[in-house]
Amino acid sequence: MSSANLAVEVKGLVKSYTGKKTGKKVAVDGIDLSVKSGEIFALLGPNGAGKTTTVEILEGYRDRDSGQVSVLGQDPNNLGIHGSAWRNRIGIVLQSTKDSEDLSVKEVVHHFAKYYQNPKDPDLVIADVGLSEKMNARVNTLSGGQRRRLDVALGIIGRPEILFLDEPTTGFDPEARRAFWELILKLKAEGVTILLTTHYLDEAEALADRVAVINNGKIIEVSTPQTLGGRNNAKALVSWFENGKKTSIQTDNPTDEVKKLTARFTGEIPELSVTRPTLEEIYISLIGETHE
Ligand code: ATP
Repeated sequence: MSSANLAVEVKGLVKSYTGKKTGKKVAVDGIDLSVKSGEIFALLGPNGAGKTTTVEILEGYRDRDSGQVSVLGQDPNNLGIHGSAWRNRIGIVLQSTKDSEDLSVKEVVHHFAKYYQNPKDPDLVIADVGLSEKMNARVNTLSGGQRRRLDVALGIIGRPEILFLDEPTTGFDPEARRAFWELILKLKAEGVTILLTTHYLDEAEALADRVAVINNGKIIEVSTPQTLGGRNNAKALVSWFENGKKTSIQTDNPTDEVKKLTARFTGEIPELSVTRPTLEEIYISLIGETHE
């Protein structure tokens, strides 16, 4: 794939932090990443894996020690005169922001819209994130999940070409999470590239075209959610209830097993289920294999 089709290109990225007590800690340890224009790409990994550090470097908020980084064709740490034009093309939702507490939702979104050359309609954006009823509420009266939706509104108000979402749905109730997923898929349909970090594997599965699993600052695997860790070739688990207990068998041929069970049981096979590993199970085993 040529670089022209890549929204993000990262090669050999390294970043360490040095603490007085803790000494040197390598947070990002030689990461290579490519995010195609228009795709939704999710970074997955346990607490402290290096996701936020990576994303902040891509956003231009953090210096790197070494490696090459290109976001929309620019090096975020070497923007020169292109700085404000580049910032106009990216949208950012940080892990948590705490400003504008005394303003109303409407005031904050309208205010942020003024920073951009071609913003979306602030009232439509407020509706898109499901905050119309809270339009006139002060920011400091919003619930955690509502506050997060406001953060998302501020991330998309400038009509970004690429949107960075760092744990966007933390604190959302299930309904709000689903509504947020719809919003993200709508942005993708508009052609926006989305780089997401999340601890919710169902979110990655619902949204991401590709995921990267990171642990200890290194990428373990980049793949689609459906094929991560050989998931597509994993054995199925056929389970049923027999002789007073749950019984199960792992197999490459679940249909054959179900046929055998059907022949053995005269009627309904009690509590029959056929399952394959979830993305979460695959992820946990990948992380477990590399745990120090
Ligand atoms: P989480 O899922 O908890 O958000 P993460 O994958 O985003 O984690 P990072 O925040 O990138 O992880 O942190 C990676 C490592 O770098 C951790 O060990 C963390 O303690 C360390 N670290 C992050 N920020 C700093 C900082 N400003 N100073 C020193 N160490 C830091």
